Amino acid sequence: MSSPILIVGGGLGGLTAALALASHGKPVRVLEGAPAFGAIGYGIQFGPNVFRVFDRLALSAAVLEKADSPPAVLMIDALNGKEVTRVPTGPTLRARFEHPYIIIHRVDLHDVMLAACRRNPLITLEPNCMVSCFADHGETVTATTQDGRSFEGSALIGADGVRSRTRAQLLADGDPLPNGFMAFRTIVPMADVTAEVRRDIVALWGGPGFHLVHYPLRHGTLFNIVAVFRRSAHSERGDSAAYRAELEEIYHDAHPAMKALLAMLDLGRRQAVGDRDPIRCWHKGRIVLLGDAAHPTLQSLAQGACMAIEDGLCLAGCIAAAGEDYEAAFRRYERARGLRTARVTLESRYLWDIYHADGIAREVYWQMLGERSEADTLQCLAWLYDGFELPAGPEQ
Ligand SMILES: Cc1cc2nc3c(=O)[nH]c(=O)nc-3n(C[C@H](O)[C@H](O)[C@H](O)COP(=O)(O)OP(=O)(O)OC[C@H]3O[C@@H](n4cnc5c(N)ncnc54)[C@H](O)[C@@H]3O)c2cc1C
Repeated sequence: MSSPILIVGGGLGGLTAALALASHGKPVRVLEGAPAFGAIGYGIQFGPNVFRVFDRLALSAAVLEKADSPPAVLMIDALNGKEVTRVPTGPTLRARFEHPYIIIHRVDLHDVMLAACRRNPLITLEPNCMVSCFADHGETVTATTQDGRSFEGSALIGADGVRSRTRAQLLADGDPLPNGFMAFRTIVPMADVTAEVRRDIVALWGGPGFHLVHYPLRHGTLFNIVAVFRRSAHSERGDSAAYRAELEEIYHDAHPAMKALLAMLDLGRRQAVGDRDPIRCWHKGRIVLLGDAAHPTLQSLAQGACMAIEDGLCLAGCIAAAGEDYEAAFRRYERARGLRTARVTLESRYLWDIYHADGIAREVYWQMLGERSEADTLQCLAWLYDGFELPAGPEQ
C-alpha cells in the first residue's frame, strides 16, 4: 500500500478529508492532539450546502437521524423583542435548495463521522498526537509530535483549526485577528428554560455591541445558547465575576427574555472571536491547509464548519485527480475554494456589523432587512446554499 496522507487534526474538516480520500482509495492517518477524538459539546447549524458533501460520503441519513430542522431563523431586535427579518428554513428552503437546514449537537455529528472512519480500513485514527512540527523532504513528509514521535506520509494536510501550528510553520503569518468580541456557549436541559422565548426556532437577537443566538438540540430536549459581546478594558481581568458584571452592564437595556437567558450562561466557557483576511495560497510543496487553518471566519453566517467540510471533499477530489502531483492538486483546490471561502469571511464580517449596529446605522440596516421578502432572502443565500462545483476530471 502507498504511504498514507497525514491529516493533522481530527475535527470536522480533517475527518471529512479522511473519509473523502479513503473513498478514492487513498490511505490516510489522522493525527489528533486531544487524548480522544471528539468534539466540544455544543450545537452547530448547517446550511443545505453541507448535504452535497454528506450525500457523497453516504452520511446524510445518519446525520439526519440526529438532527432537527428548525422552521425558521429569526432575527429579533434585542431591545424591543420585535422580529427584524426571518430566513424560512423549513419546507420552502428545502424545496428551493433540495436539502434541509439543520441544527445538531456537535458530539452527535462527530460520532457519525468517527463511526464511518472506523469502518474504513484505509483510515487510521491516532489520538494523543499533538503535532509540533513537520518536514517536507520532497518525495515524503514527516510530522513530529510534542512527545517526540514521528509519522511519515506522502503529503500533509493541516486541519488543525483556528490556531493551526501547521499554518504557523508553513506561512508564519501571525495569529488570527481578534475583533474585540467574546463568545460564551452554554447548553441546558430544555426543562430548565424559563425565559419567554420560542424554543423551536433558531433565534438571533441583535443589539448594539452584543448578540445572542439560541436553538433546540436533540429533538427538543436540550437548549443551546451562544452569547457574544464587545469586550471593554473592564473584562481584561478575565474571571467569571468580571464577565458577569460586564454582561449585566452591556445587556442593561436588553429585552427581559434575553436577560433571563443571560442568567443561564456558563461564563467559564468563553472564546475570543476573530478571523483572518483571506489569502489565495494555502500550500507549499506537499503541505496544505484546510478549514479554519486556511480561512477562519466569524460565525455570523454559521458556515465555518460547512466550509471545512466542503474543503475536505474538494481537496480529496483534487488529490485523486492529480495522481502523485500534489502541487498541481493543491493549486486546483485553492482555485476551487478560494473565492467561495473568502466571500464567507467577508460577508460574515458585514453581517457581524449589522448584528451589532447602533444608532442610525442600526435603523438603516433594520429597514433594509425588513424590506426583504422571503424569496429575496433565499436568493441572497443562493450562492452559498446551492453548493459549489467540484473540479471535474484530471488536471489539465
Ligand atoms: C461560537 C461559535 C459558533 C459556531 N457556529 C457554527 C455553526 O453554526 N455552523 C458552522 O458551520 N460553523 C460554526 N462555527 C465555526 C466552526 O466551529 C469551525 O469553523 C469549524 O469547527 C472548523 O473546523 P476545522 O476542522 O477546520 O477545525 P476544528 O474543528 O477546530 O478542528 C481542529 C482539530 O485539530 C486538533 N488539533 C489542533 N492542533 C493540533 C495539533 N497541533 N496536532 C494535532 N491535532 C491538533 C484539535 O484538537 C481539533 O480536533 C462556530 C464557531 C464558533 C466559535
